[in-house]
This record gives sequence, structure tokens and C-alpha cells, in this order.
Amino acid sequence: MDSYSVRMRAAAGGAHEAGGRHISGGERLIGAEELEATVQKLLRRALTHELGQPDFVNLTVEKVDSADITQLQALPVIQREVHSVCEGHAAAVELLLQAGVALSAAQKAVALLVHGPAPDGGVMRGAVVMDADTGARLESDPARGVRVTQLDWTPQALEGWKQRVMPLGIANERVAEALALATKVTAVAGTVAELCWSDDPSYVGGYVAAKSIGYVRIPQLKELGSPLGGRVFFVRGIRNVQEYEAALQAPVLILEQTEQRGEQA
Ligand code: AMP
Repeated sequence: MDSYSVRMRAAAGGAHEAGGRHISGGERLIGAEELEATVQKLLRRALTHELGQPDFVNLTVEKVDSADITQLQALPVIQREVHSVCEGHAAAVELLLQAGVALSAAQKAVALLVHGPAPDGGVMRGAVVMDADTGARLESDPARGVRVTQLDWTPQALEGWKQRVMPLGIANERVAEALALATKVTAVAGTVAELCWSDDPSYVGGYVAAKSIGYVRIPQLKELGSPLGGRVFFVRGIRNVQEYEAALQAPVLILEQTEQRGEQA
């Protein structure tokens, strides 16, 4: 059976490659029967995003051989309670240390997302790749960052996961997409941990994820109204960054997590 990768990116003030400001993006990996509805949904996301009206939308549809798809079990979700942005940042640094990131690199990554990780201080459409020991930035395109593509939940796994985490109040598309991405990124050889918070002005939450600690959701990592955010992938021992970035593009489907260490509030 064939699957399809659907990718969307939207920008204002011209295309991304012409210096336009990133508005929104989306990555799906679906069966043929979901193709039309998915394209429509991603287009709607692009046209109704709270960061503004795009004047450039790129939608790409590519067939993917199902035999090439790797299946991964979703990371367990843990919620970390914090009462301020400052506490949120301290929790993020503490979790990154726990996952094996050096203190200076963890602190540098938090500061980078606070000020905007792009060279002009704005947001990137992809992620920063950071050396987990030295804090050096390694991504091959520091203005764009690296995008994780070709990933999704199986429809059954997504439904099952939503039912299970309903009592935690996180059974929504945003957390599901972020959990799928974090599961894929932390499974790629060389990844030590990931730090993320959204650039959506109305969404102040984010997470630290690593294989060893799971997906730890932190409800407050920025002030309401801030249009800044991003992602940092901490790496160690990669042979070269191009190979690492290529592995982030390999097709992956997420299955429900069946291990005993489950979600906790
Ligand atoms: P979001 O959680 O969608 O608000 O995204 C927050 C930030 O994460 C964006 O500004 C991008 O820098 C980055 N990002 C979003 N989607 C991806 C992706 N598929 N791959 C890599 N980075 C991403």
C-alpha cells in the first residue's frame, strides 16, 4: 500500500527563500484515502494562522513506499508543574541536564529561543542542531534550520492515545503533533534531547524530550503574546550534520506507547 507525505509551509512578505517571514508549517504521512482532506486541512491551517495572513503557501505531496516506513512507539508524556516563565526555564535546564546536555549548552539554547533563534532574531521554520557539550550550532542552514518531515500517527494509535490522555487535558492536535515529532527526533542516532516551545503568541507551553526522560511537558515557557519560539535538537557523536539531518527526513509512523512507564499528571 502506498502512503503519501504532505508538507505545508506558509510565509508572509514573499516565499521563505526570498526572505519571507515564516507563518506556519505542517508535516503528515497518510494513506491515499486521507489525501484530499489532509491537503485541505493544511491549507486552512496556513490561511488562518494567528501569526498573520500568508502571501506564500507551498504544499508538496509525495508518494512514499510503505515498506520504507519505520514504526516507533510514542514517548510517554509527563507533566511538569511550573508557576512562571522563570520556573519553566529552570525546569527546562534541569531536565536537559538530566538527559545529558551540558549546563552551558542548555542555558544557551533557552536564551536562543527567548531572543529568537534566526540570525535576524526572528523565528526559524526548522530547528537548531546544537552540540550537547559545547553548545556550538551545527545545522547546515542557520536561517532555515532543519525540518523534520514524513511523520504521523497511525489513525488508530492517535485515537487510542487521545482517549488515554483525555484526563490530563492534553488530547489535542498540537500536543499529538509535537509528541510525534519528539518521538521521531529522540529516536534518531546522535540525539541527546530536544527543547521546544511554540512561536504562536497564544500558546506558552513547550517541552523537553529525551529517550531517557520521555516527553516532559512544561506549561509555561514564554509570556503570552510573544511571537518567538523554536526547537533545539542536542546531538553528540554524529559523523556529520548532513547525515543527521537526512535521518530526520526518513518516513516514520507513530504507534501507541505500550510500555509500563505511563503518563502522569
Ligand atoms: P510550533 O510548535 O509548530 O509552533 O513550532 C515551533 C517552532 O518549531 C517553529 O518556529 C520551528 O522553528 C520549529 N518547527 C516546527 N515544525 C518543525 C518541524 N517539522 N521540524 C523542525 N522544526 C520545526
